[in-house]
Amino acid sequence: MKNKFILYFLLFPLAVFSQNVQEPTDTQKEWSAPYAPFRIVGNIYYVGTYDLACYLITTSKGNILINTGLSSSAGQIKKNVTSLGFNFKDIKILLTTQAHYDHLGAMAEIKKLTGAKMMVDEKDAEVMKNGGRTDYALGGGKTTFAPIMPDRLLKDGDQIQLGNTSIVMLHHPGHTKGSCSFLLKTEDDKKEYSVLIANMPSIVTEKKFSEIPAYPNIEKDYAYTFGSLKKLSFDIWLSSHASQFDLHKKHKPADKYNPAAFIDRKGYDLVLKNLEQDFNKKISKE
Ligand SMILES: [Zn+2]
Repeated sequence: MKNKFILYFLLFPLAVFSQNVQEPTDTQKEWSAPYAPFRIVGNIYYVGTYDLACYLITTSKGNILINTGLSSSAGQIKKNVTSLGFNFKDIKILLTTQAHYDHLGAMAEIKKLTGAKMMVDEKDAEVMKNGGRTDYALGGGKTTFAPIMPDRLLKDGDQIQLGNTSIVMLHHPGHTKGSCSFLLKTEDDKKEYSVLIANMPSIVTEKKFSEIPAYPNIEKDYAYTFGSLKKLSFDIWLSSHASQFDLHKKHKPADKYNPAAFIDRKGYDLVLKNLEQDFNKKISKE
């Protein structure tokens, strides 16, 4: 009886907290539309929705999930993982490219379902813990996703190791203070590939950079991120949104395994160039 009583008080704040989540509802339908999961390359699989990219990386010691989509997508992601023949509970590590509700909405639930360890760029840890409330652009005191307690904080260049897979986290701030990309090697029976899962530095705020006291380094951070992304070399690139790397032009649901479809340095450079133009236009108006 006493134990039950204590449990009630431990769970109570969490229950109150999750009731207060105000996930934006005016989102594009592509964000929650279902999409058939598939093997992209080697041990990397697409398990996201039509536009909100989620990646499953399978290893000899369990699996890694990067991003989740909106809160309503937990079931869809689970179904995608299972239909590829993997056990959802084999997910041991959770990662995200940025602490925004469209990439973390279902993370708290998936963490609870799998017991996996959440690892996050240290600069996004605070926002992750308060469900986006202190996010400089989307927060405004509103909790936009269920808060998540990180198990490990990552710094630029840190390695995430599971089984035979090692992923390097690259700190790519601007979009959020702790946005990041992931670089890893994978192989199939024919070839080895280096794969970049990039967080493309799109601008979230209409405010002048100089009018964001919550993020005084924002302009410097974006400039750093553009510089860093331009220098990277890789064979295949993917991103936080399917539309950013043209998934739907590169892959149709009936297609067979074809990693070559994702070899596209030109597309990457063009997306970066366009985003950097937006950035330069914005700072010219400061
Ligand atoms: Zn975002």
